[in-house]
Amino acid sequence: MLRRDTQFDVRYVAAPKLLKVITPEELIEKGARVCAGQADFDDLILWMGTGNNYHHEQLMTLPVGGFLFQELAPQYSACGATILASPRDPEVVQPGDVIAVSPDTNVVRVVYRRGANSNLLFMTDRCNSLCLMCSQPPKEVDDRWHIDENLSLLDLIDPGSEQLGISGGEPTLYRDGLLAIIRHAAATVPEKALHILSNGRLLSDASWIADLKRLNHPNITWGIPLYADNAKDHDEVVNAPGAFAETMAGLYNLQRAGQRIEIRMVLSKLTVARLPEWAHYVFRNLPFTHHVALMGIENTGLAKKNYAALWIDPADYQIQLASAAHFLDIRGLTVSVYNLPLCVLEPTLGRFYRQSISDWKNLFIDTCQSCSAKQACAGFFKSHSTRWQSRNIHPLSPKELETLQGAPYEVA
Ligand code: SF4
Repeated sequence: MLRRDTQFDVRYVAAPKLLKVITPEELIEKGARVCAGQADFDDLILWMGTGNNYHHEQLMTLPVGGFLFQELAPQYSACGATILASPRDPEVVQPGDVIAVSPDTNVVRVVYRRGANSNLLFMTDRCNSLCLMCSQPPKEVDDRWHIDENLSLLDLIDPGSEQLGISGGEPTLYRDGLLAIIRHAAATVPEKALHILSNGRLLSDASWIADLKRLNHPNITWGIPLYADNAKDHDEVVNAPGAFAETMAGLYNLQRAGQRIEIRMVLSKLTVARLPEWAHYVFRNLPFTHHVALMGIENTGLAKKNYAALWIDPADYQIQLASAAHFLDIRGLTVSVYNLPLCVLEPTLGRFYRQSISDWKNLFIDTCQSCSAKQACAGFFKSHSTRWQSRNIHPLSPKELETLQGAPYEVA
């Protein structure tokens, strides 16, 4: 797993800024067109590399926004240009990435990673719910600066058809900022699908419908969690009285606005007992759902504090999970199972399984090393610990993997 930040020797950074890392070859071939939107040479930081291919003296004359060295030669240490040098972890920042630098810190954040499956526009640390298993507990801060950073970031990312996430916290708390970001994404990278994670509560305000219709973005999916088929259980999980009614109203408003909807369920002791009833509820009340995501819990943040309330061995809910997944699948809804180790899965669920844990936060434990499924399996979150580990974790043989990938479901 690759970190998203590392320390550099940072010199001559006047103000917080995003920079696109570019090699000399790419600079010659594409210039600022390497970026999807409006960018100029000042938005680029030149990858100075190592070895004889790079003639540092000539490169240092180029009018770019900065220079990134693996090792800084003494003659450039006081040159007056923005310099990043000697990264603590040289793997973290690579050509094509967009990085955030600031005069206040020597930590450089990667805010866009070229080719990654998990690029995200992070909107805010704030949230209007307090879910028991929240992996990133909300903070009461005014962090609207994320809006401008994301607008700039959209200009600097690579063009191309990968998916971009929009997440928080709760992104709809900054309504105007979120709408501006979607509009800018539609103008800059219309080829990229947007996946917005929201609890949907504020979308219960019907005035969103006209705003969303006006956006006219070609490819947005809203991922909205619904943790029960009834208000009491859902509100307990999200720790917010009234949330179920608001989320349901939000879902209907999204439908009225012509938006594509993914319903998300996090599997925990509080949610698995009524999974079959929940699946019925989703089908009967939200038949316009485009995708249903059934997800294992991430054992970090508030989930650690609420371990006793949340933990159930996935081996103990496979029957309910299979019942819900097949019920929805047979009725034409697209179903995915995320964030579970493949070896705990009931075999007929194999075809719903996705290798889902973001590349920068997954890991494989010692048991996995001899497993045939390592390429196909999501493994574990980097926060994994043994008390969150199923008793059924075991290396799969090639035959078992084949069965998982091809097991048919027979309708009784
Ligand atoms: S043992 Fe295999 S299937 Fe189980 S978690 Fe490890 S890699 Fe995945």
